[in-house]
Amino acid sequence: MDAGEVLRLDREHVWHPYTAVPSGVPVHVVRRAGGVRITLGDGRELIDGMASWWAAIHGHNHPRLNQAARDQIDDMAHVMFGGLTHEPAVRLAHRLAGMTGLDRVFLADSGSVAVEVAIKMAVQYSGRSTLLTVRGGYHGDTFAAMSVCDPVNGMHHLFTGMLPRHVFAPMPPHDYGRRPVPAPVSMTQAGPDEAYLAELTAAVEAHADRLAAIIVEPVVQGAGGMRFSHPAYLRRLRDLADEHGVLLIADEIATGFGRTGEMFGCDHAGIRPDIMCVGKALTGGYMTLAATLCTARVADRIGVLMHGPTYMGNPLACAVAGASLDLLAERPWREEVARIEAALFDGLAPAAGAPGVRDVRVLGAIGVIETDQPVDVAKIQDIVMEHGVWLRPFGRLIYTMPPYACTPEDVARITGAMVAATAAL
Ligand SMILES: *Cc1c(COP(=O)(O)O)cnc(C)c1O
Repeated sequence: MDAGEVLRLDREHVWHPYTAVPSGVPVHVVRRAGGVRITLGDGRELIDGMASWWAAIHGHNHPRLNQAARDQIDDMAHVMFGGLTHEPAVRLAHRLAGMTGLDRVFLADSGSVAVEVAIKMAVQYSGRSTLLTVRGGYHGDTFAAMSVCDPVNGMHHLFTGMLPRHVFAPMPPHDYGRRPVPAPVSMTQAGPDEAYLAELTAAVEAHADRLAAIIVEPVVQGAGGMRFSHPAYLRRLRDLADEHGVLLIADEIATGFGRTGEMFGCDHAGIRPDIMCVGKALTGGYMTLAATLCTARVADRIGVLMHGPTYMGNPLACAVAGASLDLLAERPWREEVARIEAALFDGLAPAAGAPGVRDVRVLGAIGVIETDQPVDVAKIQDIVMEHGVWLRPFGRLIYTMPPYACTPEDVARITGAMVAATAAL
């Protein structure tokens, strides 16, 4: 098919994320992706500044991941996981347990499903059905996951009537990461906001006796607003959970595998959750796979966990995930992420204080320009594409989380495109 035919059939049949059919906003045909670049139907090459939604940390079309997929497919693409097991799944589970300090692993099909499973674990463990979370979160698009997304900005208000009601503590402050300009008082790094700690504590204490679990994204709220908040809040939630015998679920689907500068978001706070969800970068952006991990204590009390998807433990996905974690262990990701953080900080600094720009912030390999008004996505995308960069702004956010494989020149290209885009605000 030529690119025109792909687009024609796309318009006729295919839903994209959060769109109509036809979508009414431009979509671009991709021919191939290699390294940190994607090649469009018309031959244009763009740096994938989104790492394809946090996932492609090693870049696309990586020889080692390709080889892992090939080797595995010659053995078996898939077998059912009920009553059968295999090396790729077991090896991956063992690896994840070692990385997280959590012993039991449920392999799930996607991040949202991993969150559903985490919630089931908490409900089965506690016999309770109420969760506590903070405003501003994003935990996925399935029903239980939607019920703990931000109730206002969570993109899911159409379904409010069908969702269970949970407890929402106030949104965490923006008070972590680095900012290129002296920021307003509420955005400094002078330490955690004591008033917020008190609010958080009051919210947990008011509801503790009916909570199955507390569920949060550690340190970085991703799709809910690209908000970085002080690890002290997470530490406080850990303490409160212990004090009241409530489970703590860390949704590390966006933050896991080095993105924030630590292997997991929880590492900023030096805490271990009772239940953790991972996904996104788990397969290095190759295929959908996620996992929900928990302590042996939680698993023992649950007993039979009532979940079991058809493609559970898919050997292809597990083999690629194993290879991706091998690569991560071999690459100096900590230095790479620190280098990207420094380059994002320098590169985005010129946007700070520009008209229409509310905030510029960087944490690990995440760079954010927050604007005063919601951005015109198509217009911003045109500008960054002219600069050879692929980004997907949303709401008041123009942001990047590039592959760790990006060179300083690649990062400079991305930040240059972002700064150029702010001229159009
Ligand atoms: C993306 C994301 C999810 C949902 O994962 P999917 O694979 O899209 O279902 C859940 N939680 C967080 C924090 C995420 O970033």
